[in-house]
Amino acid sequence: MTVPTLTLNDGHAIPQLGFGVFQVDPAETERIVSAALEAGYRHIDTAAVYGNEEGVGRAIAASGIPRDEIFVTTKLWNGDQGRDTARGAIETSLEKLGLDHVNLYLIHWPRPDLDRYVETFQQMEAFKAEGLTHSIGVSNFHQPHLQRLLDETGTVPAINQIELHPAFAQRALREFQEPLGIHTESWGPLGQGKYDLFGEKAVTDAAEAHGVTPAQVVIRWHLQNGVIVFPKSSTPERIVQNFDVFGFELTGDEIAAIDALDRGQRVGADPDTATF
Ligand code: NAD
Repeated sequence: MTVPTLTLNDGHAIPQLGFGVFQVDPAETERIVSAALEAGYRHIDTAAVYGNEEGVGRAIAASGIPRDEIFVTTKLWNGDQGRDTARGAIETSLEKLGLDHVNLYLIHWPRPDLDRYVETFQQMEAFKAEGLTHSIGVSNFHQPHLQRLLDETGTVPAINQIELHPAFAQRALREFQEPLGIHTESWGPLGQGKYDLFGEKAVTDAAEAHGVTPAQVVIRWHLQNGVIVFPKSSTPERIVQNFDVFGFELTGDEIAAIDALDRGQRVGADPDTATF
């Protein structure tokens, strides 16, 4: 199965479906990422703070898959934001991953209270120029944080990775980003199992109609909404199932019914006030 790719505003291609490894036990990461690569995933989303970059790197090395066929994202942790600290952070991540570059490097959270994301992004422009990362972007940025980057740096982020699932669909932020060429990635795409998404009638009706699982319906909803998505699972059957989403298509009415579940319900922290 070939996953569709989207073209980022810097010309690089990104597979629209990937595999996320938040809360994947570092001791289990190599085995689980190997299972994902075996299932066909070619896009892995990790972060320095997840503590499992080494396992991701070992799985990639062991797979024998050519480096240019795998899209790897990692993220700079909040405590490493700053003009003088960002370089050490990307170098440490690359060393742990066993790679000479990542495909995408993100600022993990804006942390507006620190007021260092502009200078951090300027450093990341240099990392991109040096080839340490092909693309640069941000995560958990709200519109005012993005606007500051646009006003004060020379690069439009390729990506903003934000919490996004049916109960928290982020329509206004997506509409702001789209004309700027900033692609949206959904984190917590299945709501992290924190509300009964898979019991919602809009989801179960579609699952029944297409003979698929509720999780597959929700992943399909993300894909058909044009966002990039990387559900996480440590269970082999679910890893395979979450990748098997290209044999059916939701109708416009089914998409609209799931769109209607939006009620502004976060499952994670608010980027304006988060202080971790
Ligand atoms: P998710 O919405 O992908 O939920 C994962 C949980 O859903 C799993 O633990 C499992 O319990 C359940 N699940 C997965 N597949 C299932 C299936 N087929 N059937 C039933 N249940 C299933 O949440 P997530 O892991 O937080 O988000 C995905 C990825 O997004 C992460 O792994 C990480 O890469 C990224 N992320 C980024 C940030 C950020 O701040 N940038 C924050 C959280 C997550």
